[in-house]
Amino acid sequence: MLSFLNTEIAFKGRSNKELNQSFFLFKMMGYPSLVKYGKGFLRFAFKVQLPIRGIIKKTIYKQFCGGENINECNHVINELYGGYHVGTILDYSAEGEAIEASFEYCKNEVLKTIALAKGNRRIPFSVFKITGLARFELLVKVQAKEELSAEESLEFDRVKARIEELCKAAADSDVRIFMDGEETWIQKVIDEIAEEMIVRYNKEKAIVFNTIQLYRNDRILYLKEQILNARNLGYFYGVKLVRGAYMEKERKRAQVNAYDSPINKTKEETDRLFNKAITICIENIDSVNFCAGTHNETSCLHLTQMMAQRGIKNNDHRVYFAQLFGMSNHISFNLAAEGYNVAKYVPYGPVEKLLPYLIRRAKENTSIAGQTGRELRLIITEKRRRDTMEKSRITP
Ligand SMILES: Cc1cc2nc3c(=O)[nH]c(=O)nc-3n(C[C@H](O)[C@H](O)[C@H](O)COP(=O)(O)OP(=O)(O)OC[C@H]3O[C@@H](n4cnc5c(N)ncnc54)[C@H](O)[C@@H]3O)c2cc1C
Repeated sequence: MLSFLNTEIAFKGRSNKELNQSFFLFKMMGYPSLVKYGKGFLRFAFKVQLPIRGIIKKTIYKQFCGGENINECNHVINELYGGYHVGTILDYSAEGEAIEASFEYCKNEVLKTIALAKGNRRIPFSVFKITGLARFELLVKVQAKEELSAEESLEFDRVKARIEELCKAAADSDVRIFMDGEETWIQKVIDEIAEEMIVRYNKEKAIVFNTIQLYRNDRILYLKEQILNARNLGYFYGVKLVRGAYMEKERKRAQVNAYDSPINKTKEETDRLFNKAITICIENIDSVNFCAGTHNETSCLHLTQMMAQRGIKNNDHRVYFAQLFGMSNHISFNLAAEGYNVAKYVPYGPVEKLLPYLIRRAKENTSIAGQTGRELRLIITEKRRRDTMEKSRITP
């Protein structure tokens, strides 16, 4: 029976020492002021080359990242698959300078992840973000339909060529590839390119997956349209469903520029739309392959219930669950133990280049109004369970 309360499975691979380290880390991240000032301190410390790299790598980096390069991620890939039957999605998350050399470097990294994923059931997807391959301001200009200079047009051609190269490599290697979702003021460009790639490469099976963010109030309509197109034109629609990561930024921009925020007014509405999107995908499963990228237990349960109702097997290749490495193992490992397809995003890259990613994770785990965060609560439950076990072994 599926239960997300089973912390024994969730922390099976963690020794008491490792569990205590995670406890300490999440406890620290629980203090909003520590995260707020820690963020500035970290940036400063790296800038003036204080010797903190080692400490970061052994603590927060170890919790949320696989390694500095693909080779360093091998132990994580093996542990996830060998220990739990959970796949890895290698995510080159380095945020570098917005120059052509960085974009080419990033593209080559993603090509390496595709090559490693070929025929490798431990790595069920590859992934990229367009902003890893393109200058953000260029994408903004394209979406706003501003006139591009001759140089910018060539620059945009190179962006499209990089994406084409990645999708083609994925298709040639029979590896599914996610295009991550980003801010609404560049998302239209991402959608248009993704739609083109999906039509081209998803004729026989779903290879290219776009991302739909359900914190947006217009995305159910978009999802339905995309599925209808796939049905009418006879290809498979690939999609990753997420709630969305840029809520504050989106709302702030809408306010500053005096337009209606595209974000739902409440969390409940986002939850409702996310679960509705799951239902729509399941109802159209003959032409949709999808992945629920979420740490929300209710949404994961909703998906398992929908699958059961429709007679879809737990391990049906068309449905995946995904969580981020270092978070929500109680969901990932318990789902996998029941035979569902599960994968973890495993970010990798040099420590200093993953700082923005680490800061986002720290902020996400900061306590709201003094409440204990989700991860910390789970660690405390598991510590108590182990203590009780220990005591019952000692007591005659
Ligand atoms: C495998 C994976 C891949 C991901 N890929 C992407 C990606 O490509 N693009 C992207 O943007 N994000 C991505 N995310 C992040 C994701 O969008 C969420 O930010 C994150 O997972 C938290 O949402 P949740 O579904 O896990 O659940 P919860 O913790 O239940 O939901 C939190 C989310 O609900 C929404 N929310 C919170 N408060 C409100 C409010 N007051 N009003 C309206 N909505 C609210 C926000 O989206 C917030 O992130 C990914 C996450 C995972 C696990």
